[in-house]
Parts: sequence; C-alpha cells; structure tokens
Amino acid sequence: MIPAAAWDPSHEDWIGVFVNAHECRACRRGAGHVVLDLGSQPACDYFPRYSDPGPDPIHPLQMWLCSHCGLAQLLDDPTVPEEPKGAEPAALVAQAADAVARVAAAGLLRAGARVAEYGSPHGGSWLGLLAGRGLRPLDGAGRADVILDCFGMMHAADQAGALAERVGRLAPAGVLLLQYHSLDTIIRQGQWNALRHGHYAYYSTTALRAMLAAVGFSPRTTWYFDLYGGTVLLAAVRDADVSGTPDETVKAVLSAEERTGVCDPDVLRGLQQDVRSRSVALHGWLAESAAAGRTVLGYGAASRAIALLRTARVDSDLLPAVADASPAKRGLRMPGTTIPVISPAELIARRPDEVALFVSDLMAEVRVSYPEVEAHGGRWVDADALGSG
Ligand SMILES: [Zn+2]
Repeated sequence: MIPAAAWDPSHEDWIGVFVNAHECRACRRGAGHVVLDLGSQPACDYFPRYSDPGPDPIHPLQMWLCSHCGLAQLLDDPTVPEEPKGAEPAALVAQAADAVARVAAAGLLRAGARVAEYGSPHGGSWLGLLAGRGLRPLDGAGRADVILDCFGMMHAADQAGALAERVGRLAPAGVLLLQYHSLDTIIRQGQWNALRHGHYAYYSTTALRAMLAAVGFSPRTTWYFDLYGGTVLLAAVRDADVSGTPDETVKAVLSAEERTGVCDPDVLRGLQQDVRSRSVALHGWLAESAAAGRTVLGYGAASRAIALLRTARVDSDLLPAVADASPAKRGLRMPGTTIPVISPAELIARRPDEVALFVSDLMAEVRVSYPEVEAHGGRWVDADALGSG
C-alpha cells in the first residue's frame, strides 16, 4: 500500500524562512527565501507499473528565491531522470517557426553564420529552421556566431557554469538567444506546478539581466510568445560589442516584471496560496462526488497533474483512474498515488458522471474526440480551474 500523500499544511509554517544553507546557483550568494514548498514529490516523469506497489521514491520540491540576484530556483537537487524526447507538440513546432522568423526579421540571423544549439532534454530543435535560412550548424565545440538555448539552460544545476559555457563559445560580435517560460507568467497565472525536479531555474528577465551582467553581457531585445501562457526569447550581446542601451522591448518586460514583483518573496509566496486553494477545491469536489455516488474519472496523465493530485491528497478511492491517449502509459500508475492509467475507451465504457481534465488546453479537443462522455450524460470539468480566481 502506498502511503497517503505526504503533503502536510504545516510545511507552510516555514515558507519564507531565511535559508542560509543554500548557495545561489547563479551568483553563489547564500541569502534567500523558500517561497514555494510542495512537500515531498515523486519524480514526475517516472510512471511505475500498476503492479509495482511502491512506495515510489520521493524528494523535497521547493522553490528558493535569491535575495541578491533574484533568480528563482530549485532548492534541492535530488538528480532525477529527465523525461525522454518524445513527439513534439504542435504548439512548440509552430512557435519555433514564428520565433525564427521574428529573429531573422530583426537582422540577427545572417546567412553563413555559425550556430550552436543547447537544446532541451525534452526535445525541440531549431537547427533545421536555421539551416533553412543559410546558417551553418556547428559540430563539436567550435565558436559560434549565434548560440541558441531554447528551454535548455533551466536543466543545469550550476546556472553560473552553464551561462559561462555558452558565452565562452560565442565568437566576437555574436548573439546569445535564450528562450524561457517567464517567472512573471508563472506568478500572474498561478502556475505553481511549473515547479518540478530537474528544472533548476525559473527565469525572470530581471534575474537573467543580472546573470548576464556578471559575464559582461546585456539584453539587447526580447520577443514575447503565448507558449505556456507567456514565454520570452531574449537576445543578449557582449557589452564590449555594442554601445547604447537595451531597446524598448527589454525595458517594457523589465517594467512589467517590476510591477508584478518578480524579485519580491512576498509576491512569490502567493503561489503557495494557489496550491492550497486548488488542492482544497479538488479534494472537496471529489469527496463530495464520492459521497453522492457519482463516478469521477480523470483525463490526462500529465506530469503537471501529479503534484496537484498529491498536494490534494487524492488517491484511487477518490479518483479510481486517469485516462490517457498515449498507449505507452497504459498499465502504469500515476507516480506517488494508487491511481491507474487507463485507455480512453475504458473511460468511456465506465460511463463517468464527471471527468476531471488535467490538461485544460485539451478541453475542446477531448469534447470532440470523446463525444460519448457527454452523450452518456457525463460532464468534463477543468481541474485547473477549480479553486482558481
Ligand atoms: Zn543569486
């Protein structure tokens, strides 16, 4: 039997405690605050077989905000395996094409330039698009005119080392392109379950500017994308190569971040309130449905559902199964819970009264793909919207 979810509201008692034992992954200073604590969580990419009774290994999952440079980061480093490269979501492919077109329009992708890419372990390369514009992808470790990092650097435990490696490979007059899911977005949209093992940094442009300054670089311009609710692509150049100040797009991003308060531990602690309200709402709804004899099943065995299920103390007594379209996940179990993953056909066969959708972006798609749910009198419920706002 798997132990009940380990989240304990008393964890919140030490939220905001000044933690001196941690050294900032970027500036190496020791002063900062724990701003978000999800208790102990399993590695969200490790789906055990349903026949494996557990318990699954769990590790503390906390976000720490550096008081000196402002980088929000993973506090502990349990070293968990990354999700393997899989099929690229269509949204990522489309955004890459859009981004490359916009950077090219700004004159930063000249034909013949040498490009080196630091990719994400989750996949998604821009090299084909860049080669199509006449840039030359570099093999090995030579110097490049364009260094591209698309969701790559966040996976480095040593942030200062990772940035030094990238700028060290940049040829004179080169440009560093960094793309990241913005901390401003995470705060404004209450995306607390963006916090996960293996993702060591949660960048604001403000914190990145400080990291870049430490290696003699400055932001030059930025582009904004709707991906993940708000993603920033930043172009940075060596201070020695340019004169003048960052452009208006950089100033606008920095001003917006200042208004949000991306370096203010009290603002970031608001994410803990989102954890509490969403967890309490999910548990309350499922308990009420169970008491009323309604059948509720889940849909979407996504990694981001796991922290929610565990903080809400939801196990198979409240949610008997989660369906997923991926055949690779059949016969597995939601990590850290007793909840099996089933096929969409089985979900339909069980005629649920309600289906908790854990990937709200898919609402329109699942209603079309599985009309039987509503035809049988069932209802789709956006689990992300419970307890929000
Ligand atoms: Zn720092």
